[in-house]
Amino acid sequence: MQLTDTHCHLDYNKFDSDRAEVIARATDSGLTRMLVPGLDLRSSNEAVLLAESNPSVYAAVGFHPTDLEKFTEQAFDEIRELVHHPKVVAVGEIGLDYYWVKENDKRAFQREILKRQLQFANEINKPVIIHMREENDSWYGEASVDLLSILEEWIKGLSTLAGRPGVLHSFNGNLETAQKALAMNFYIGITGPVTYKNAEQKRDIIKQLPLDKILIETDSPFLAPVPFRGKRNEPAYVRHIADKIAEIHLKSPAEIAALTAENAARLFAWGD
Ligand SMILES: [Zn+2]
Repeated sequence: MQLTDTHCHLDYNKFDSDRAEVIARATDSGLTRMLVPGLDLRSSNEAVLLAESNPSVYAAVGFHPTDLEKFTEQAFDEIRELVHHPKVVAVGEIGLDYYWVKENDKRAFQREILKRQLQFANEINKPVIIHMREENDSWYGEASVDLLSILEEWIKGLSTLAGRPGVLHSFNGNLETAQKALAMNFYIGITGPVTYKNAEQKRDIIKQLPLDKILIETDSPFLAPVPFRGKRNEPAYVRHIADKIAEIHLKSPAEIAALTAENAARLFAWGD
C-alpha cells in the first residue's frame, strides 16, 4: 500500500523529542510522500529543512491567516526566494480563518494577503494549499462566501495552473462549496474528523465527492483520527482516514491509498 499525507506539521515542537521516529514510523506504515506546509517565514524555513533531510518529505511555503501578525514585506520577499527550492511543491497554507479572527479589519487583511499569495502562486506556477474556517465552525458562512469569490476571480487569470490550482485542505464546508471548488478543479483534503462517530453529515458530503479529487491528510499534530482521537496525531495514522473513505465509497483501502497517491502526484507534480 502506497500512502501519502498531504498535510502534516512535522515542524511543530510537539515532535521535537521524537521527530525522526515519527518519520520512520510513517515510512514503515507505507507512506511514500509527506507534505509539510509553512505557517509563516520561520515554519516555512523549517519545512524546507525537513524536506532537505528526508527523501519522502516535501514542503510548502506561505503565511497562514492566523499568523499574519508576523507578516512583513521582508518576510514575503524571503518566501519568494524559498519557493524556488526543488522540494517546495506548493504555496501554503494560505486562506481565511474567521473562527479565530473576528475583527473586520483583520479579516480584510487576511483577504488582502490571500490575494497576494494567490497571485504569487500563479507567477511561479505552483498550486496552493487553502485553509478555510468559519466562525463557530459552521458549514457555511462569510468565510466560504469570501473565499469562493476570491478564488473565482483568481482562476480567471490562470493558464497551466488552471488544471491543478490547489487543495481545500481539511475541508469542513458544505456540499455546495465543495462542488464550486471542484468546478474550479480544486482538490478536497480529508482529515481525521471523517472517522468521528458524530460525523455522519461530513461522510454524506464525502460520499458525493469524485474519487479523483480527494486527498488524504492528517494535519498532524492535530485532528487525530479514531482510534487515536484526542491524542497527538502523526502521519502513520493517515491509513485510518483512507480506511474510512474506502468504507464510504465501497472500495478497498488499497484502492483509496493508490487513488489518493495518484491525485497528490497530479496536484503537486512530485513524480517518482
Ligand atoms: Zn495545517
